[in-house]
Amino acid sequence: MTNVELDELRARLDEINGQLLELISERAQVVQEIGVVKEKQGVPKFDPEREKAMLEKLVASNKGPFTAGTIRSLFKQIFAASLDLQSAEHKKSLLVSRKSHKEDTVIVLPGDIAIGGLSSVMVAGPCSVESEQQTRTVAAALQKAGIKVMRGGAFKPRTSPYDFQGLGMDGLRILREAADEYGLLTISEIVDPAHLEPALDYVDIIQIGARNMQNFELLKAAGELNKPVLLKRGLAATMEEFLHAAEYIMSRGNTQVMLIERGIRTYEKWTRNTLDISAVPILKQESHLPVLVDVTHSTGRKDILIPCAKAALAAGADGIMVEVHPDPATALSDAAQQLNIEEFNTFFSEVKASGLFRQN
Ligand code: PEP
Ligand code: MN
Repeated sequence: MTNVELDELRARLDEINGQLLELISERAQVVQEIGVVKEKQGVPKFDPEREKAMLEKLVASNKGPFTAGTIRSLFKQIFAASLDLQSAEHKKSLLVSRKSHKEDTVIVLPGDIAIGGLSSVMVAGPCSVESEQQTRTVAAALQKAGIKVMRGGAFKPRTSPYDFQGLGMDGLRILREAADEYGLLTISEIVDPAHLEPALDYVDIIQIGARNMQNFELLKAAGELNKPVLLKRGLAATMEEFLHAAEYIMSRGNTQVMLIERGIRTYEKWTRNTLDISAVPILKQESHLPVLVDVTHSTGRKDILIPCAKAALAAGADGIMVEVHPDPATALSDAAQQLNIEEFNTFFSEVKASGLFRQN
């Protein structure tokens, strides 16, 4: 073959490539138009039956040299690319997405306490509400330290059914009373949609725990409320799944959603979970919602809470959550990792001294 012939063949290939590009681009446009029609009709965009029929039609008219298998896999790629394009479009329009809402969302709580935006928040309190005395002791210490939001679990999602399950509605009442006495706001986890309404009088922020991040009925019910929700990242949830869980709440009308990274499961054993610091800047980039970091449950150990809290704030977190108990050794849950009051005061002073904590 002469060089002239080779050049001619190569030019022909370039031409065909160009035609293929034009055709697959045109195809993508048609798929998008179909997507718009389907969206109006409320039917799913991916139709496996239709995809199968299209593939069979192509295989039937294939005259070679490609095998039926090759034709199938080539066209499957083309189909998938067009569908991906639609989901990218969809991602842009998610309510949680920074693309649909450029400015940071700021959640304003009673007493003009803001979460998100220019100030940092420190959410502290016991893992579980255990008694009036225990809760009041923590509340008094938190007020003294200048804390505004107190946590305390009343419905505890425990791994073993034989472990302390929390005081339920009584726990919420104890938390509210202690918080009111010391001028604090309350946050507590709700695990059952039926408890959301009754909890409204007792909590200023509803927490949805890691184990319930994909409890879609709970998310939908929380979405119907006019109450801020703190959504924890699931034990093994990707960031996309996390944001979709938040979307469940927002899509029902409740836009007061905060995200909290609380560590994910990995093979590492020297921490209870693995604190995914990279989640902080990514979630801040992808979403406009406030992002907090729970240093207690992510690490499960007290000796690294200060550097982890600083790292979280340096990465752009809007706040920190930490567990505090008057006598951690006797705590009914998470005894190993709660700070006592003195340790909490040191922790908070160190975090403030770093200059990374923006006081409310
Ligand atoms: C909690 O914050 O009380 C709790 C149970 O945490 P998580 O849902 O992150 O495990
Ligand atoms: Mn705990």
